[in-house]
Amino acid sequence: MSEDKKTQIFIKKEWCKSCGICFAFCPKEVLQPDELGKAVVVHPDKCIGCKICELHCPDFVITVEKEENNENGQEKASSR
Ligand code: SF4
Ligand code: SF4
Repeated sequence: MSEDKKTQIFIKKEWCKSCGICFAFCPKEVLQPDELGKAVVVHPDKCIGCKICELHCPDFVITVEKEENNENGQEKASSR
């Protein structure tokens, strides 16, 4: 149980209303607004998986998942 699990951040951009809560709360400045003020992940490597963004987004735009690295470094494909 180490902390070196990767986190993946999924953003349903079409639901984002540019309220800015996630940028304000993220302790690691992982999330930044794009030119429309919608959330984008700019520093995925800095994410500590605290889920503050997920918990505070009023529109359930953000999902944070921790992901285990398997030995060949493959990440599970979770596109939808
Ligand atoms: S889980 Fe925490 S560190 Fe990662 S993007 Fe959300 S608020 Fe930032
Ligand atoms: S908190 Fe949610 S709705 Fe608000 S800017 Fe962030 S992703 Fe968009």
